[in-house]
Amino acid sequence: MKKGYVCDHCLGRQFAQLLTGMSNKKRGGIIRKFVAMEIEKEGETEIEETNLDGINFRRYEPNVKKKKCFVCEGLFGELDEWCGKIMVELQGNEFDNFLIGTRLPDELVKREEDLWEDIGIEYCEEMKAEFNRELGKKLEERTRKDVEFELPEIQILVDVDEDNVELIVNSLCVYGEYQKLERGIPQTEWPSGKYEISLEEIIAPAFLRAADSSDEKFHGAGREDIDALCKGWRPFILELLQPKKRNIDLEKIEEEVNENDEVNVRNLQIVQRNKIEELKKWQPDKSYRALIELGKDVLKKDLEKLKELETTLTQRTPQRVEHRRADRYRKRKVKKIEWKKLSEGELEIRVKAEAGTYIKEMISGDGGRTEPSVASILGTDAVCTELDVIEIHDKDGLQFKN
Ligand SMILES: [Zn+2]
Repeated sequence: MKKGYVCDHCLGRQFAQLLTGMSNKKRGGIIRKFVAMEIEKEGETEIEETNLDGINFRRYEPNVKKKKCFVCEGLFGELDEWCGKIMVELQGNEFDNFLIGTRLPDELVKREEDLWEDIGIEYCEEMKAEFNRELGKKLEERTRKDVEFELPEIQILVDVDEDNVELIVNSLCVYGEYQKLERGIPQTEWPSGKYEISLEEIIAPAFLRAADSSDEKFHGAGREDIDALCKGWRPFILELLQPKKRNIDLEKIEEEVNENDEVNVRNLQIVQRNKIEELKKWQPDKSYRALIELGKDVLKKDLEKLKELETTLTQRTPQRVEHRRADRYRKRKVKKIEWKKLSEGELEIRVKAEAGTYIKEMISGDGGRTEPSVASILGTDAVCTELDVIEIHDKDGLQFKN
């Protein structure tokens, strides 16, 4: 206060770590009045007297001049103005929570640091922290929405230096489970346009329309082969980018998506963005149904040997995917296998296996790269002609409630 006029915010902030349950502005006001009492008692002072503006003395008459806080340059007097600018930017966006981040001009930051050199930093708080908080409180009042530190729906970047407000609208994530009922459909869009349509392109449009969102990302809990059906319900998260709307009617969307014959979705629910990671890590067992053509007919009693497949397979990265996956060996467990002879040289099997088991290779042996295999056990060629995922197990392992 000897250095010049300092506002209640900046005065109180230097003692922010003392007492709780009040704002820095309140602290500053208390300190100022305490100092004023001392001045009235002594009848004189060494502080810049503009600091005493607005205080009702009985006897002392301070010499008050035009004032501007030398620490924040009046920034805390502009809170309402900034709040108004943010409201304009927020127009048309549906949200329940937000977080404010501020960039202060370098001179202000420097001036605060210089001040700390003089008076110490034992009890202080950064100007930026107070500004974010006070602006957040005002915006909470205006919007009736909450500040959210961890996963805010909207981040508001206030650049005081550039006199600018920018919004980062975070994704809206919808969890769901899908069934794929037609072959030849990849899970996500192929850049080459090799396939007519993907699951993603069938599922996403209804969501994009409802959320008024510009784009999306599709995250599946694994994926089935393009030519395989998925009759089991596979979890996915659709990440809607920059949504204008967040309160979307999931029941209506589900109905809309399910109008097509290729794909069904169910159990739609809004989830937090951090669930994507959880989904990606999830490793459920899966059950498959496969049709197999054998190189020669095998007697029913010899098929009993297929039980030997209930073991841990060693699978080298299959030839069909080796151009896009690292070449390595991995162990995967086949937990259960059942079979039925359909006709001469033709089998149907049902297999339950660990996540990531290459089923087609478990059948063919992939030129010896998978051991053991249907082919190696029966001693003849074996080709998978049809593959369906019939069940995805242990869905309870995923906790998708918010
Ligand atoms: Zn100030």
